[in-house]
Amino acid sequence: MKAFEWANAQSIDDAVKLLAPADPNADPDEMARPMGGGQDLLTTMKAYIVRPPRVVNLKTIPNVGMISGDGQQGLTIGAGVTLTQLAEHPEVKKSFPGLVEAALSIATPQIRNMGTVGGNLCQRPRCWYYRLENVNCLKKGGSEGYAQSGENKYNAIFGGGPSYVVHPSDLAPMLVALEEFFTLPRADLRRENVLNPGEIVTEIRVPGHATAPRSTYLKFKERSSLDFAMSSVAVVLEMGPDNKTVTQARIVLGGVAPIPWRVPKAEAVLVGNVISDETAGKAAVLALEGAAPLAKNGYKIPLTQTLVRRALANVAAV
Ligand SMILES: Cc1cc2nc3c(=O)[nH]c(=O)nc-3n(C[C@H](O)[C@H](O)[C@H](O)COP(=O)(O)OP(=O)(O)OC[C@H]3O[C@@H](n4cnc5c(N)ncnc54)[C@H](O)[C@@H]3O)c2cc1C
Repeated sequence: MKAFEWANAQSIDDAVKLLAPADPNADPDEMARPMGGGQDLLTTMKAYIVRPPRVVNLKTIPNVGMISGDGQQGLTIGAGVTLTQLAEHPEVKKSFPGLVEAALSIATPQIRNMGTVGGNLCQRPRCWYYRLENVNCLKKGGSEGYAQSGENKYNAIFGGGPSYVVHPSDLAPMLVALEEFFTLPRADLRRENVLNPGEIVTEIRVPGHATAPRSTYLKFKERSSLDFAMSSVAVVLEMGPDNKTVTQARIVLGGVAPIPWRVPKAEAVLVGNVISDETAGKAAVLALEGAAPLAKNGYKIPLTQTLVRRALANVAAV
């Protein structure tokens, strides 16, 4: 690991000052980095994927680890809230059960005790070409992407090109309101979200609802212990007065694209209908419409269709 300076930020302004790039034209992987729990950052530093001259600890900022509000007004989740705090918070459990499922699907209790919401959303991709110290792929500023014609079992079936990474965060698909936060490789290869060097996530606002929407998060992992999603589905449904007819639907896929992948056609087919085998089946087919699998990841299409059908059956049964 390259030697670095450690700084404890005392406020958000202090963090932004400490993170301001000395040279805005420098390689982004050579600039100062913010740190939440360090569960991803330290791994990327050890493999020389990022080489920051300074690491800015965000956990010393007062109130950055707070959750406030409720299901009706909406929730404000500080970027420094740990995944365990999120999963155990009474109001999140009551009003946003899908968010609790997503948080609990992440890694292990030890990593959830340290890892923060901000760090989870801003973690770097897990493509093994990207993670290999000696491979200089497109995302590291190199001139070649290796997954497209190489080992691409875990790579993207939507939104790929020129890089085919998938976004690794389990919270991201559930926090559907954040969809404009994430960016495709074709917009900027070197980053996964809209943050410029020196900018940080300070909090996440989850809008409130008069009646709590139904939500669930289903994730398929290759190992039953800790693992990243090969595919996942976040579903949020609002029901009409009969408690059966869908009035609003959000379906976001994880593990299939470089960003959480919203599927508006699948959502639209549910609105005005009751969830049945037939409507769930139609939504599942539409959710995967347009997928462009690589040589080794075509299995993601039937896998994700099954997750969509099961997630809809789960929320309909509540
Ligand atoms: C063995 C293992 C298994 C894992 N499994 C999963 C899994 O199943 N699902 C999953 O989603 N994740 C998984 N992770 C990834 C990740 O470590 C955790 O999800 C954790 O939430 C990261 O949070 P952190 O606070 O430790 O992030 P950090 O390591 O502190 O930061 C991660 C990145 O985000 C940046 N960052 C941190 N905070 C901010 C902020 N407020 N604003 C802007 N940028 C910021 C950092 O500079 C860094 O680039 C796993 C990690 C490991 C090591």
